[in-house]
Amino acid sequence: MSSRIVLLLLFCVCCVNVALAKQPDVAAKTETSIPTGMLDNLVILQYHNVSTKTPASTSIAPEKFAEHLAYLYRHYTVVDLFDAIKALRAGNSLPDKAVAITFDDGFDNILLNAHPLLQKYNFPYTIFINPQRIDKDRNQLTWYEVKQMAQENVRFANHTLDHLHLLNREYRNGEKESDAQWLTRIMYNIDQAEKLIETQLGYSLQFLAYPYGEFDTFLAQHLEQQGYIGFAQHSGAVFSGSNFSALPRFPAAGRYANINTLKVKLNSLAMPVLDNNIQSPVVSEEGFPSTLKLTVAAADLNMNAMNCFFQGHLQDKKIIENLVEVSLPESFPFGRSRMNCTAPSKTQKGRFYWFSQPFFKANENQLFPD
Ligand SMILES: [Zn+2]
Repeated sequence: MSSRIVLLLLFCVCCVNVALAKQPDVAAKTETSIPTGMLDNLVILQYHNVSTKTPASTSIAPEKFAEHLAYLYRHYTVVDLFDAIKALRAGNSLPDKAVAITFDDGFDNILLNAHPLLQKYNFPYTIFINPQRIDKDRNQLTWYEVKQMAQENVRFANHTLDHLHLLNREYRNGEKESDAQWLTRIMYNIDQAEKLIETQLGYSLQFLAYPYGEFDTFLAQHLEQQGYIGFAQHSGAVFSGSNFSALPRFPAAGRYANINTLKVKLNSLAMPVLDNNIQSPVVSEEGFPSTLKLTVAAADLNMNAMNCFFQGHLQDKKIIENLVEVSLPESFPFGRSRMNCTAPSKTQKGRFYWFSQPFFKANENQLFPD
């Protein structure tokens, strides 16, 4: 991690041929007056349904989605997720205000309601699909449609075969599977999904969006060793020093669809965290830390103005130089929760560094709920 931070601080300026949408004004701006440190930054948006007929929590109305795209066209540079991740990992720079668009779950309303709008702006985007559901489940894309879209600026990536909760353990003959059996089972699922995509489309990105954003450190590290990049659902921007086995994305639909709140997120910068005491996001009953301790590279980050929110509530914190300590709840809620910390940039007026720590807690039945 620290060598990546050094790289960031060196403000590497080598340019990369990122697949840009046609935005001559924005593209020209990157070559002139933008501080190069800002070019090591990517915001990834996450959508599911673009429809008024699907569950509100995962949906955005087509008119609202059109509003997002128009705003992106005016103020941001929409980049291809695969090219942008490749550039960041190679230490190459991105355009200023780079944004990647992603969808999870492969619903057919993406083709019907979102694709024409995205095409209008020539915006590349990525859909994480469950290959076992394609062609089969109602409201899912078909392989024919997937192949057509793949010819039109859309990439397809892995969301597991069937959208399982990866962290759930199964029981065989009344006995809980061992860690080794669990890992074998879910890696088979993930690899099979990857193979199906490759069979249909002829490529394998090895990009995995964790269903429900759930992962643990052991799994994330194993996937990294196997060559996968992981995408989760906690919020925050990405930079070359990010953990590429669990990258954050900003949800942009449901209660997050409001353009005014989205603007702050689009404008966010990846918080350069040097050290984090949370070893794994899975909350265990015993021995789980009572405090989140983050050490950050504070050169451009206003430490004293840092705020941390757990489930939207401002938390008490202690700041010692570039270390922040935030109390964690005595009892976490079942399912998914997260702590978000933000701090203003000293040099980029109106821009905030953003960090999110997700937590996953199993319920009384030792299952992770939807
Ligand atoms: Zn999903």
